[in-house]
Amino acid sequence: MDIITPGIYRLKLPLRDFVTSHVNVYLVKGNECLIVDTGWDNQESLEYLRRQLEEVGLVPEDIKHVVVTHGHTDHMSMAHRIQSQFHARLYMHKRDIEVVNSRSASGQDFVQQTDELLRRNGVPDSEFHGPYPALPEIAFVNADVMLEGGETIALGNFNLKVLWTPGHSPGHICLYEPAHKLLLAGDLVMPTIAPNIGLHLQYSSNPLGDYLSSLDMVKKLDVELVLPAHEHPFRNLRERADEIFQRHRRRDNEIISIMSDGKPRNAYQLAVTMTWLPDTASEGWKNLDPWNKRLAVLETLAHLEFLRSGDKLDKSVSNGAVIYRAC
Ligand SMILES: [Zn+2]
Ligand SMILES: [Zn+2]
Repeated sequence: MDIITPGIYRLKLPLRDFVTSHVNVYLVKGNECLIVDTGWDNQESLEYLRRQLEEVGLVPEDIKHVVVTHGHTDHMSMAHRIQSQFHARLYMHKRDIEVVNSRSASGQDFVQQTDELLRRNGVPDSEFHGPYPALPEIAFVNADVMLEGGETIALGNFNLKVLWTPGHSPGHICLYEPAHKLLLAGDLVMPTIAPNIGLHLQYSSNPLGDYLSSLDMVKKLDVELVLPAHEHPFRNLRERADEIFQRHRRRDNEIISIMSDGKPRNAYQLAVTMTWLPDTASEGWKNLDPWNKRLAVLETLAHLEFLRSGDKLDKSVSNGAVIYRAC
């Protein structure tokens, strides 16, 4: 457990067999205790939480509020347990509640519908074979407070402003504490890794456009320290945001340059020719595992739709197959 400032602490919960080693859980101790994000819902996570709370003289029952920055399993899984077992109030943005609950309701259909989306965008069946990481089952969310953005959660010394920052997920939020110039950033911005921005089912039609607007919005805030959900806290928000803008611009330019020959292409044809380094520590498409191949195509689609929204590309659909070409 690290002290960020008196009253705000970073707890680390392990994420075994996941793309990142841990999730940062931030404890805000004002006139009541609040935590931001949770890890896997298992005994090990709960023990880690309990032990780190003990260091500041707390027990899980002292947590009165749980804010989930977005509906991904590494952030959301244990929130339910804390809500039901320790009677904390659960806060989450309404768009991610809708997405999570509709995916839970559709179960396996969601995977099949994503396969269908990938097929329409040119991915051959041979690319669909696993192994995929075993993710915890998605549960229904029953939030006590449905956030929209713009609310303030007042905890005495700390006033947490809810910022709606869609893109990585449609209902992603950050919390901004203006008096202490802190940004609790979820997966929006991290010191070295960049979040996946993909055209997932039930997301907006232009998630990359949403993400870049969200990043631009937080970049303008007066922030001294960013508290991300993975990796470690960092200070240089504006520089880091600019690096991420550049990274996306490079990818846009790569697509524009491939498409400049005027030939029509689908997202899969683009994804296999694009450079995935350094994003995945891989040299190219053939070295990606099946799960990352799916993410890479969905990320390519997010770029294609972003470029289309800026009138750089056209899209056509014939017999269900989606094709892009330069304008
Ligand atoms: Zn996430
Ligand atoms: Zn995450």
